[in-house]
Amino acid sequence: MKRHLRLLIAAIVVLSASVAMADFGDDSRTVNEVDRNAVIRVRETIEVRSLDGSLTPAQLDDFADLAQKGASDIARFTGVPPRRQRIVIYLSPRIDISHTYPHYPGSPHHEARVFIDSERVERHTAPYLHELVHAVVGEGGAMWLEEGFASWVASSVATTYGGYYAPVLSEGNDRVDMQARAAIERGRAADSAAWFDSDSPNLSPRDRRSFYILSHSFTKYLGTTLGTSQLVRIHRARNVQALKLISGISLDEWRTRWMSSLGESSGRVAAGR
Ligand SMILES: [Zn+2]
Repeated sequence: MKRHLRLLIAAIVVLSASVAMADFGDDSRTVNEVDRNAVIRVRETIEVRSLDGSLTPAQLDDFADLAQKGASDIARFTGVPPRRQRIVIYLSPRIDISHTYPHYPGSPHHEARVFIDSERVERHTAPYLHELVHAVVGEGGAMWLEEGFASWVASSVATTYGGYYAPVLSEGNDRVDMQARAAIERGRAADSAAWFDSDSPNLSPRDRRSFYILSHSFTKYLGTTLGTSQLVRIHRARNVQALKLISGISLDEWRTRWMSSLGESSGRVAAGR
């Protein structure tokens, strides 16, 4: 969940959205509150700041080790080198939905900051790998690619190197195609066409889950077809046209191939356009 935040920041810059300001205000308050009462763990490329009392010292040590391993594994899987500044992870029970700023505004070095609910850390249900992918790999040009990529890499890394995959809104790589088929059967194919054509679609809360599922399944198809390094190149181009420019195949054609790989008829795909 990241694009949402970038839009919030843009909105703050133009001083036009009071709701957005309230959300960024929440994060600022969390930062201030945690920093005043923080228990800190520093590892090679990550730093964890946890609100005092929300986790035991042992839980915090375990999570810092897990997050460091996750960040290293993501760099290894994607080939993206670690940034000079450490990724800072804030943990607090007051954080509702996990989210990431690849470049946190208002901090001296604009390092990546990740916000995660400490209760999910305690229960081992935190989507820490998904959020760390955003922090390591940065922005990707289109929201479907950023979110799909984060979930696909998170699940791949957990399966290949260990750690755990916790869904943001889609299951792991072994189950997401099944979820995508069900979403398409519910009539979301037409929505996916519109969602993938936009760099930042306007999603209702009801759309969100289908969007994350379809983006994850589509990105997984691209990753396994094009190869990881090619998909990383497309992501790192930060250009909504990058898929077509780099692969030489249009988004529409890719979507058609993906849907037929899911067992959809071409008539159904055409109807989705
Ligand atoms: Zn995300």
